[in-house]
Amino acid sequence: MRDSSVLITISDVIEYLFCPRFIYFIYCLDIPQHEEKRFKVLKGRDVHEIRRLTNTSYLRKKLGCISKERNVFVASKENHIKGIVDEVLFLEDGTAAPLEYKFAEYKDKVYMTYKYQLYLQALMISENYDVEVNRAYICYTRSNNMVKSIKIEPEDVDEAIKIAKKTIDIIEKGVYPKATKYKSKCIDCCYRNICV
Ligand code: SF4
Repeated sequence: MRDSSVLITISDVIEYLFCPRFIYFIYCLDIPQHEEKRFKVLKGRDVHEIRRLTNTSYLRKKLGCISKERNVFVASKENHIKGIVDEVLFLEDGTAAPLEYKFAEYKDKVYMTYKYQLYLQALMISENYDVEVNRAYICYTRSNNMVKSIKIEPEDVDEAIKIAKKTIDIIEKGVYPKATKYKSKCIDCCYRNICV
């Protein structure tokens, strides 16, 4: 990637996916979001509380995990992105996988924003540990700890990198981005009074 001093977080990319203008307001105009309005991908509950509710040894066995690390800081220098992974699982087949706990119910599909979060985590785990990452897991704690497996293809990771680059572009160039296509998101957006 190009030379840049900008370093974004996975949460920034998720904000971009919600609406690219969030990035402009936060980084270019320095107008923070009100905490209570923050995008719902941010955890509904502290991860420690989630873990308390979750039988992790059962999960570990079920997923073929031989060891794991918790609350892992990961980063990709080349792509100017960093983040925290709830758990990095090291699996019997020699690969690794991120596991994210969501204080949420499973509602028939894994949201796109969750998937992009996992793609970026997979990229950084792969880079940081020099290990193959071809899947990820989400544990829905409000659906009786249901675990969903997500297959990760190289093109998924490439797509996530492209989105991260677009996020960085807004910060670097300060160009006012297009509004989200989904006007329903604007109804209770904290920026609606200044967004034109
Ligand atoms: S009002 Fe709508 S377009 Fe503007 S920042 Fe909020 S969600 Fe995006």
